Amino acid sequence: MKRDGHTHSEYCPHGRIGDTEELILAAAAQGFTHYSVTEHSPMPEDFFRRVPEDLREEARRTVMRPGDLEHYLGKMHRLKEKYRDRIALSVGLEVEYVEAFAGWTRDLLDEYGPQLDDGLVSVHYLALPRNFSAAGPGGKPLPPTPGEPEVFLPMDLSYDLNRQTLLPALGGPEGFRRAYFGAVRASAQADLGRYGPKRLGHISLCQKFDLALPQEERGYSPALEEEILRLLGAAKERGFALDFNVAGLRKPQSPEFYPGRWIARRALALGIPLVYGSDSHHVSEVGLYYDVYRQYAQ
Ligand SMILES: [Zn+2]
Ligand SMILES: [Zn+2]
Repeated sequence: MKRDGHTHSEYCPHGRIGDTEELILAAAAQGFTHYSVTEHSPMPEDFFRRVPEDLREEARRTVMRPGDLEHYLGKMHRLKEKYRDRIALSVGLEVEYVEAFAGWTRDLLDEYGPQLDDGLVSVHYLALPRNFSAAGPGGKPLPPTPGEPEVFLPMDLSYDLNRQTLLPALGGPEGFRRAYFGAVRASAQADLGRYGPKRLGHISLCQKFDLALPQEERGYSPALEEEILRLLGAAKERGFALDFNVAGLRKPQSPEFYPGRWIARRALALGIPLVYGSDSHHVSEVGLYYDVYRQYAQ
């Protein structure tokens, strides 16, 4: 069995995919026997209203347009039938986990879950108190203001955005990473209903820009290692697998694949399965670095 558990489609607004069919054929030609299409599931307009205005358009392009979901599912099921003798296609979603919208996501999964064969739950946004900009560079993390709704910031768009907003507001790189791993742990512990995904997407995405940081700000402190072990404990307890996501190897500022060597070793020691994910957003990315995955996981 050769499986890709994380790929995108032409329904991804920030991808460069002409037609998913091309990717499926490329995967089959490389000997993949199992292939999951896991498009970013839509988010509601209420969510985007809580993304700072200057980032809102870009945020909308991080996920599928709401009106596209049924077309997407219909098309992927047609491709699944068409190629069923060549490759086992799983129709899935990469579900966004934002705690305040977990109920919305559960409702979406309850409705469309019967049409899904596979899925991932991923974190690409972090919550900040609405007045986060009051913390200047190097400022202390702001305590959430009671009664004041949070705002949501995408955490993987650019190093500059993180440097100027997320890192100061969350107490620097350490606080940023703790917030990220904490959100991923919450995603593993959340109740996303009977169709909730059973695989956690790229759990160390907070490393994406690490090579841009000064050397002394990289890596995991002992406290952070404990937070990561808590996350792995939750994943194990709830029966999650991890996405062995090679997109990190394609990003110039990322030091390694997600989740990285340190986490991958501990996950395997705990018996948590690692599933290869190309995270393809273009046909040229199909099957990349499968050899790296094999070194670790097989
Ligand atoms: Zn994407
Ligand atoms: Zn993702």
